[in-house]
Amino acid sequence: MPTTNAIQAPSPGAPFERSTVERREPRPDDVAIDIAFAGICHSDIHQVRNEWFPGTFPMVPGHEITGTVSAVGPDVTKFAVGDQVGVGCFIDSCGECEYCEAGEEQFCVQGPVPTYNGRDHDGEVTYGGYSQAIVVKEGFVVSIPDDIELDVAAPLLCAGITTYSPLRHWNVGSGSKVAIVGMGGLGHVAVQIAKALGAEVTVLSQSLSKQEEGLRLGADAYYATSERETFGELRGSFDLILNTVSANLKVDRFLSLLRVDGTLVNVGAPVEPDSYRAFSLIGGRKSIAGSNVGGLRETQEMLDFCAEHGIAPQIEKIGADDVDEAYERVTDSKVRFRAVIDVATLDD
Ligand code: NAP
Ligand code: ZN
Repeated sequence: MPTTNAIQAPSPGAPFERSTVERREPRPDDVAIDIAFAGICHSDIHQVRNEWFPGTFPMVPGHEITGTVSAVGPDVTKFAVGDQVGVGCFIDSCGECEYCEAGEEQFCVQGPVPTYNGRDHDGEVTYGGYSQAIVVKEGFVVSIPDDIELDVAAPLLCAGITTYSPLRHWNVGSGSKVAIVGMGGLGHVAVQIAKALGAEVTVLSQSLSKQEEGLRLGADAYYATSERETFGELRGSFDLILNTVSANLKVDRFLSLLRVDGTLVNVGAPVEPDSYRAFSLIGGRKSIAGSNVGGLRETQEMLDFCAEHGIAPQIEKIGADDVDEAYERVTDSKVRFRAVIDVATLDD
């Protein structure tokens, strides 16, 4: 495979610069993809800024990838040249452990191979979707349904599956009372999915600045967590709270909003540890949990579900030279609601 244009962060927190990435020749079970769009997930920002762990630099982030198949290896059966496809947060796993066998590759005991900022099984550093092409093993590629455009589909590859998976796991459906904390990239998709699953959906945002869009996307109620009375009014209301916030919350206050047996599920991954009082759980047999993206089977299920229910991320399309600015806007909670890089701008 040829060299492909990309942008890279040369060192932690440094501005992006134009670069190139070498992609491997497709192996028998590989799919080569011309990338069209790459979403900017807050996890990209955490990793470029070395907030979670020391990363591998230069780094080419991007794990919300959509594009078109440009070539397939001879053993590939599910995809053909020209197909619309997507790639999410990981591109391989051991394939043998109990979790891989169950189709939950995100919990692979050896650790799934991350799409970027990791090493593939052959020892090569992985580079993600802020680039024009990628080569991925067939089993880690999903089909994008025809009625979802590739730009709008991109955020589903991480924000979509990261919110769909816990909502399904905790059996959200008709009669469930669900709160989504944080109306960002993940949160605004979570609102749509929870609503389509039949839940009564409340958004808990820092302010009411995104209320109109939240209600339009399907929320039944919208509250500002900056207003003190919110916590009194909503005390004991929810079966499930899905926390998508990238920063630490006052966990006890959110636990007070759960009904008996309710669960606070963290998908947001702040840098510092959270703290809470045991009494906040004991008083109502409550749980705190977490969830990590989702497996390949469930990712395909989520894409088909979104196509069927008309669920679409609301995106801001940006050029490859606008990524530093977009990162600032994401950290300031200003993007509505996912910035997506138009990878064609890497041609210039
Ligand atoms: P995002 O677009 O920045 O959205 C996060 C939202 O959290 C913001 O829009 C904001 O919503 C709220 N928020 C931000 N700072 C806050 C603060 N100091 N206090 C209270 N609320 C605050 O980020 P994202 O891409 O959705 O990702 C969110 C988090 O999920 C990140 O930590 C990311 O790494 C993590 N993540 C985890 C997984 C997983 O598998 N578990 C997968 C993907 C992402 P309002 O403006 O409405 O307040
Ligand atoms: Zn992500």
